[in-house]
Amino acid sequence: MNRSFKELALATRNLHKAQELKRMLEGLPLQILTLQDLPEFSMPPEDKPTFRENALQKAVTTAQQTGKFSLADDSGLEVDVLGGEPGVFSARYAGPQATDPENNEKLLKALEGIASEKRTARFRCALALAKPSGDCEVVEGTCEGVIASEPRGTCGFGYDPLFLIPSLGKTFGELGETVKSQISHRAIAARKLRELLQHLAS
Ligand code: IMP
Repeated sequence: MNRSFKELALATRNLHKAQELKRMLEGLPLQILTLQDLPEFSMPPEDKPTFRENALQKAVTTAQQTGKFSLADDSGLEVDVLGGEPGVFSARYAGPQATDPENNEKLLKALEGIASEKRTARFRCALALAKPSGDCEVVEGTCEGVIASEPRGTCGFGYDPLFLIPSLGKTFGELGETVKSQISHRAIAARKLRELLQHLAS
């Protein structure tokens, strides 16, 4: 076991993301710290044009400020007919303080009258791991789907009630955590991350 690598700080204020990530990293010999455990920490702005760059910026800043190995998630939804919007602006699509229902409502309005076969979309997730030395690694995952015509289901967060997996005929909001944690963009990226973490921790 690498003695300097016993704790991993999660650089997110999104409790849903933190819960999903914690669950996906279960079983690793690591204590996962959230920003609740690190009250002095301030998050950098998410002002980069890609998920990868935003994740790197959050992870590197967290590692510098805390002196701990740090993990950041930057993720969002790309809708093809909207030219990839909301993309890196997914959290604030309907405005800087937008709630999930407001973002979902804006998305449904933007897609009004668009047929289901043209409502293709994907979730993207970039997970960046930064060491206190400044070295970092990024892994990514995507999950393809279709935007439903109305919200369905109450599980998850963000755009989950609108994100339909065609092969299952259900949204992430209906499928729930057990299925989402197997097939989501974050789950795919987290599987790659586990390999990196296992290697570092050995
Ligand atoms: P950020 O990575 O903090 O900039 O925000 C990501 C935003 O993308 C969230 O606030 C959600 O709106 C959306 N998002 C990312 N991952 C998911 C997911 O797994 N389900 C639903 N929405 C997501």
